[in-house]
Amino acid sequence: MVRFAERDQHGVYLEPESHESDWVYCNGISTSLPDDVQDTIVHSMPGCEHAKILQYGYAVEYDMVRPHQIYVTGQSRLVEGFYLAGQINGTSGYEEAAAQGLVAGINAALRARGGGEFSFDRSQAYIGVLMDDLVTKTPREPYRMFTSRAEYRLMLRSDNAPDRLTPIAMELGLLDHHEIGLLRKKRFAARSAAIEFGRSLMNSTMDGSKTIADRIHESEYSVEHLKHAIQTQMEAKFGDVHPEVYQTLHAQKRYEPYIERQKIEIRRHNEIEHKPIPEWIEYELMDSLRNEARTALSKYRPSTFGQASRLEGVTPADLTLLSVLVKRARLSRRETEAANSE
Ligand SMILES: Cc1cc2nc3c(=O)[nH]c(=O)nc-3n(C[C@H](O)[C@H](O)[C@H](O)COP(=O)(O)OP(=O)(O)OC[C@H]3O[C@@H](n4cnc5c(N)ncnc54)[C@H](O)[C@@H]3O)c2cc1C
Repeated sequence: MVRFAERDQHGVYLEPESHESDWVYCNGISTSLPDDVQDTIVHSMPGCEHAKILQYGYAVEYDMVRPHQIYVTGQSRLVEGFYLAGQINGTSGYEEAAAQGLVAGINAALRARGGGEFSFDRSQAYIGVLMDDLVTKTPREPYRMFTSRAEYRLMLRSDNAPDRLTPIAMELGLLDHHEIGLLRKKRFAARSAAIEFGRSLMNSTMDGSKTIADRIHESEYSVEHLKHAIQTQMEAKFGDVHPEVYQTLHAQKRYEPYIERQKIEIRRHNEIEHKPIPEWIEYELMDSLRNEARTALSKYRPSTFGQASRLEGVTPADLTLLSVLVKRARLSRRETEAANSE
């Protein structure tokens, strides 16, 4: 037993496949072990002692390019002008493949048009996180895009996807040549105007004895409360307002201090690429670093934060902490040196 060896039970869902047959899918025992072993596993489950396996589990193996073989644009490093997307890059999943297809497609088109490259930042889109991970981290198993892989989740909300991505699409000229693109542009302009107006209303409109901007920090003050308070004025100016506008107004205002803090973090992170890490740093003593990060850092001993940031097992959150720890270590070293020289 290799995985989850410490567990003494394992849940399996028996899912009927059809009204017309008695086929049952055993959800939770993904395996490619030999047929006789699969028979033994299934027959050991209460109620399945006499089950007959109609389709044995199997494994799909495929070769893939390694992180150092592709650029963040999806272009192969080995064959110029050749763009890769999907499980060839080590991912699994429909959305993962589609997302990379978009990036590779955009870059192939830019190249065909005569130059330029495009990539999303990690703070702009989950696709940015995905592509960056694919070129900096060596996968041990097929990569899936979990939301937990993103460090700037306050920015990467679903309600603000149009605000994050439509300007990029416009800049790339992706919305210029078809009806849906033009419609999207029009809706985005309307949304932006409504959000701007909504923000000013929140500061000036009273709801009870306080302004909405103040009340929004009360935990029970919901999107519905906000909508109720400003809907009449919003609709008098814009006609129908999309419900997501209220969601964005609510989230933006309620989490404003945290969002601002995250923006500062993003700027700071962009600055640290070439910042040196002293040779004498003792990662072993940095207890507050996650184990995985500490192991990777002690093994590779990167000389800059940029290098550290690309090590597998070191996340941007670890770097932020590391930056504080290095600063502290520098300070205490300076103090020790001063004390010694006195
Ligand atoms: C049984 C199963 C269930 C899955 N369930 C899910 C799920 O529920 N959710 C999910 O998100 N993902 C699921 N996946 C994973 C998902 O299907 C894949 O990760 C995704 O389809 C990969 O997309 P892709 O474009 O990289 O590759 P593919 O979809 O495999 O596309 C590659 C294409 O290239 C073609 N091709 C190969 N060689 C050549 C050649 N020499 N010349 C021309 N064409 C060629 C192939 O015919 C194929 O059409 C599942 C996969 C399997 C096998």
